[in-house]
Amino acid sequence: MSFQQPELPYAIGALEPFISETQMSYHYGKHHAAYFKNLNALVEGKQEKELPLRQLVVESEGAVFNNAAQAWNHSFFFNCMSPSKGGGRPTDDLATILRRDFGSFEAFRETFSKAAATLFGSGWAWLAAGPGGKLEILAMSNAGNPLKEGKEPLLAIDVWEHAYYLDYKNERPRFVEGFWDVVDWGFVAKNLQAAG
Ligand code: MN
Repeated sequence: MSFQQPELPYAIGALEPFISETQMSYHYGKHHAAYFKNLNALVEGKQEKELPLRQLVVESEGAVFNNAAQAWNHSFFFNCMSPSKGGGRPTDDLATILRRDFGSFEAFRETFSKAAATLFGSGWAWLAAGPGGKLEILAMSNAGNPLKEGKEPLLAIDVWEHAYYLDYKNERPRFVEGFWDVVDWGFVAKNLQAAG
């Protein structure tokens, strides 16, 4: 069995005006699809082919890791956003824990935005739960993923230029600011719950 790119959880243009249909059709239809295609070619005939994608991210290195992590990261990132349930503020346990670990929701958002906007080169900004349950913001280059450090991903934004350049050109901070209007806090809360 080969690794299959999941369907987008919404229509290709559904996140407009934050992400245009053209931007998303390249990001999902070309970039994300290519990571699956490359990964499948790399693991063809190998035992790694039988692993769940998440486990492959944790255990692989080099080219297999790069493509496996990019395949997983994008599926996760696309699920962090929702055209219908996105935006607003987190509630319940998630709101409490963000306040506990960052002082306030606003302070969390500012630190995360700064990490995303200032990451040098290509990569991802993550909110993740450490082994003790403490939440952390990580800015990770290239295909980086908190799973690699034993931390559970809760929220991610892709800040590779391919994620925003058609819509925002060089203005990455404006892309990051718009992200908050579409974040699906229900998805983040579900990830927090699963992290235990
Ligand atoms: Mn991307």
